Amino acid sequence: MTNLLWLCLVLWISTATLFTTSSAMPPPNPIKCNDINSNCQLSNSYGVWGDRQTCHAPNIVYPTTEEHLRQELANANKNNLKVKIVTKFSHTIPKLACPSNSKNSLFISTEKYDSTIDINMERLTVTIDGGVGLRKLIDTIEKAGLSLVASTYWEGVTVAGVISTGAHGSSWWGKGGAIHDHVIGLNLIVPANENEGYAKVIKLTPQDPLFNAAKVSLGLLGIISKVTFQLEPAFKRSITLNFTNDSGIEDEFMEHARKNEFGDIQWYPSRQIAVYRYDNRVPLNTPGDALNDFLGFQSNPILVSKYVRAAEKGFENTRNVGGKCTMASFFVAYKKLIANGLKNNKLIFTGYPVVGHQGKMQSSGSCLYSSSIDITSTCAWDPTINGLFFYESTAIFPSSKFGNFIRDVKKLRDLVKPENMCGVDIYNGFLFRFIKASDAYLGQGEDSVVVDFNYYRASDALTPRFNQDIWEEIEQMAFLKYEAKPHWAKNRNVAFVDVQKKYPKFNKFVAAMFSLDRGKEISRKALIAWEKLCQPRAAGGLNILDVQVWNKAAICKLLWNVCKKKDKLSHILWKDQYTMGVSIVPQASWIVQKILKATKYLEAVGYQEEDIVRMEKFSIQKVIYTRLVRGEYEKVRWRKLVCNNVGAPPDGFLSYS
Ligand SMILES: Cc1cc2nc3c(=O)[nH]c(=O)nc-3n(C[C@H](O)[C@H](O)[C@H](O)COP(=O)(O)OP(=O)(O)OC[C@H]3O[C@@H](n4cnc5c(N)ncnc54)[C@H](O)[C@@H]3O)c2cc1C
Repeated sequence: MTNLLWLCLVLWISTATLFTTSSAMPPPNPIKCNDINSNCQLSNSYGVWGDRQTCHAPNIVYPTTEEHLRQELANANKNNLKVKIVTKFSHTIPKLACPSNSKNSLFISTEKYDSTIDINMERLTVTIDGGVGLRKLIDTIEKAGLSLVASTYWEGVTVAGVISTGAHGSSWWGKGGAIHDHVIGLNLIVPANENEGYAKVIKLTPQDPLFNAAKVSLGLLGIISKVTFQLEPAFKRSITLNFTNDSGIEDEFMEHARKNEFGDIQWYPSRQIAVYRYDNRVPLNTPGDALNDFLGFQSNPILVSKYVRAAEKGFENTRNVGGKCTMASFFVAYKKLIANGLKNNKLIFTGYPVVGHQGKMQSSGSCLYSSSIDITSTCAWDPTINGLFFYESTAIFPSSKFGNFIRDVKKLRDLVKPENMCGVDIYNGFLFRFIKASDAYLGQGEDSVVVDFNYYRASDALTPRFNQDIWEEIEQMAFLKYEAKPHWAKNRNVAFVDVQKKYPKFNKFVAAMFSLDRGKEISRKALIAWEKLCQPRAAGGLNILDVQVWNKAAICKLLWNVCKKKDKLSHILWKDQYTMGVSIVPQASWIVQKILKATKYLEAVGYQEEDIVRMEKFSIQKVIYTRLVRGEYEKVRWRKLVCNNVGAPPDGFLSYS
């Protein structure tokens, strides 16, 4: 197996170098329809969703203008259809773009809504259609002498898609690495009432109360039709990668982020190597016209991607640590040799520092571009070729907690032996990136460190993964012990358990969602009765405390106190000879009247006076509240789908509503 591996790797080097200068087969379109624009299935870019189930809608539409988008949403609203916005990329791993009920739903695609890019040279801003791809945006503004400061490392995304999921590059400087924090305006198309034509465009600026909800909205607030970014005069970047020992990385990350505007760190735990990326802006007149063509996003010969997957699968099945580590050390050495895809002259790496225009250094993705003649190479994870297939975990830590997390991972490494961590080093090890505190309700409330790590995913859900316990332990430390937040666009479903509790402003986001829902009058009939929401979850409710009923129950306790002579009030009442069941004299004060009238609540749930007098303790909740609220009920079968849903929180929430 190891010989085969070496053959693959050598093949890979020679062919990859040859092919990366040419184009590749483009990734498949994520939408497939059985008929023209109907019976449609959505996939993500890896071809398989977290739950390995498919995702459907009966119809799809392809609007080309903002007004056209509005009309499609209006039609959907009028016909009570649930709308999901899909893009030409679909690079988000959780099923955010999948309808919870595939029957009454509609996909609205932004694939053909990508023509407008309006630059304002005075204000240094650009306003674009939501479906515009990141590369098209970057190239257009760079031509005009401007730069977008933050962007994802991967350029195969639409502007509305990236901001919807809080996607980011890396920076603690200025507004930071999260792209949505560079947004200064956006248009949202939301459902409206009949008088307003069933859908309307609202223009949001940072002063608007909805703006912070709309910046990262998971596709749940409406259609983002236009996005305005703040830009800066064009600049260049100078990058040097320092492959070094990983000692002290748990302390040095802070200093590194503070000193380097676009710095990141790649950590290969099994190799005990850290790669510090010194990455800073330099003036436009600095010599250099380089290209960042990140190795992982280059096209690969299909044969090689298949062999690498087959080799990895073989090592998994035979529990071959040595094979995995050979692969990992080869890849790390190769990345060092070619500077991870940095190309000084746009062709090859010739030495550090590598200097190039922001537009060519900030994002990459050469495997995205197609050639009608070359069908032999593609993105390594292209689902049509049986190539790489992996999980992508991404945890976001407050910077103050991150050092201890790394210390724990190092302890674990010592415990399990470093070679058992080769599985992540075959990919990109642990990538540390930096994002600044944000006002977005679903963004990060404080300066944070984002860590990504990829690892083998079995082709079949029931096949246990080799060293699965290690990656799960790390996930648990991240998401449970350190309460890291999951990246909205990545992760296995388990990372989203209780995610709403980690976002202090989650309720504000939900309130914004409700305020925009369907645009009907405020006095409209609620979709679910309040009494129903207060029922236990098993009865199909949300177990919300009904304060009015609680008040009644609390008054019953006062009555019990009276009966048991527990407090001063009882003395007054006893003095006046009132007891349970005694008719209320009209001259009694309103408080007394209220307490005595509470007998009706007790009687309603079957208590008699003797039952109350016999009680030694009176728990408001157990004795009366629960009985008043619940009554008799049947357990609903779908409660686990909603309440124990380990999918993204919106899935659970939406499947309920
Ligand atoms: C290879 C790869 C590399 C990546 N690198 C990075 C990285 O460096 N940094 C990072 O942070 N992330 C990264 N990601 C994640 C990626 O940035 C997100 O998945 C991003 O959301 C994808 O954008 P998209 O255009 O494909 O949107 P989709 O995945 O299609 O959609 C994302 C969400 O946005 C909603 N949406 C899309 N358009 C609109 C609209 N017009 N109005 C309202 N809602 C809308 C969708 O309904 C969905 O809920 C990477 C992903 C891949 C596959």
